[in-house]
Amino acid sequence: MIFYSTKTADLKASLEEAIFNSLPPDNGLYMPESIPAISKEFMDDIENKSFKEIAIEVTATLLGSEITRSEIESIIDRAYDFEAPVVKITPNDYVLELFHGPSMAFKDFGARFMAAIMSYFLQRSNKEIRILVATSGDTGGAVAQGFYKVPGISVTILYPSGKVSDIQEKQLTTLGHNVTALEVEGTFDDCQRLVKEAFLDAELSEKYNLASANSINIARLIPQSFYYFAAYAQLKKLGKPLVFSVPSGNFGNLSAGVLAYRMGLPVEHFIAATNANNAVPRYLTSGTYEPLPSIETISNAMDVGSPSNFVRLTRFFNDDWNAINEKVSGAFYNDEQTQKAMREVFGNANYVMCPHTAVAYRGLQDYRKKTGSDFTGVFLSTAHPAKFIDLVEETLGKSIEVPERLKSLLDIEKVSIKMKPEFSEFKSLLMNALK
Ligand SMILES: *Cc1c(COP(=O)(O)O)cnc(C)c1O
Repeated sequence: MIFYSTKTADLKASLEEAIFNSLPPDNGLYMPESIPAISKEFMDDIENKSFKEIAIEVTATLLGSEITRSEIESIIDRAYDFEAPVVKITPNDYVLELFHGPSMAFKDFGARFMAAIMSYFLQRSNKEIRILVATSGDTGGAVAQGFYKVPGISVTILYPSGKVSDIQEKQLTTLGHNVTALEVEGTFDDCQRLVKEAFLDAELSEKYNLASANSINIARLIPQSFYYFAAYAQLKKLGKPLVFSVPSGNFGNLSAGVLAYRMGLPVEHFIAATNANNAVPRYLTSGTYEPLPSIETISNAMDVGSPSNFVRLTRFFNDDWNAINEKVSGAFYNDEQTQKAMREVFGNANYVMCPHTAVAYRGLQDYRKKTGSDFTGVFLSTAHPAKFIDLVEETLGKSIEVPERLKSLLDIEKVSIKMKPEFSEFKSLLMNALK
């Protein structure tokens, strides 16, 4: 598969270049030059395939010219010891649970695949790299878990001190080995700025092969298409068209759904569900894209004012607003509506949702009311509710169960290196102190 930059069509890259550069030099986004179709034979029998078999087939369809099938099998085998089950919530609506991975958020699907495919390329070339990642919460945990003990890769995570939840902080700071957590006395924006500066620094580039694990890396996008196929495999027997509602922030998740659709997955419609950070729903209504500064909400992993995958999302529809409108509807909700949805589903189905999931649920219900058509609805659950335990318990007025995986973390001592948000301090750590 050849990739091109959304800003300069003839700026091309191989898979390996796209993965290790993360961004093209012109600051566009890498896009596949053409999108191959999944085979009809496979789709005819997909209901009998496991999650891993689906992941292998999708990867082989996209990347089979670069990586042999047996290598793809071992990449998928290494990446996934968890799945994406659907659970029935109303007579026609299912939740697609994407929180069964090590960090209990859907970002595990992207991070684990990215780690496995980077490790494959590194072993071939005998190189070592250092991943730098700034996190406001969930990304860091998924990346830390994804790259933990992967040979040839060390990981440095920058997070804003006091601004991530207890569980999130423990996920970053308790692994050790090749994962180092830098606790920055500043904001997420400071963390991001430090990472950007590091990539521009000549001395650091000379000392290390620096790489990024941010959400626009194509190696995180591709694997997020797997679970759309997996949902279809589980629901195909119902024989109805599928509508996916996707709780969105940077729009990587929804873009991956559209990639699956472009590969031939039968999808009737997508719902781009957001909180008050609603640049994409507004674009879908008005045709004008006006990103704004981000607003704080209770679904904070979606507090993105200017979504980084917007360009990719529209490019999948050849930047044609009418085409995207036929396939994607927008919906956005405030915190009160989100909490109401959490209580509604808990009352009706005894099912506990995180606030992000609730936004998607609500988007699906409103779409059903508006269209009155008969379909199977799937809303994506992007995190386990226990990751947001304070908010969830307060909303439902009831204590909820915390999975052992998260509970045991709280007893482990955190290990972080505190630093001021100064590039000189960051650089000297990288040059001298870090393993
Ligand atoms: C990252 C995240 C999202 C947003 O996903 P995008 O791909 O950025 O749209 C939604 N929910 C949770 C829990 C997340 O961590």
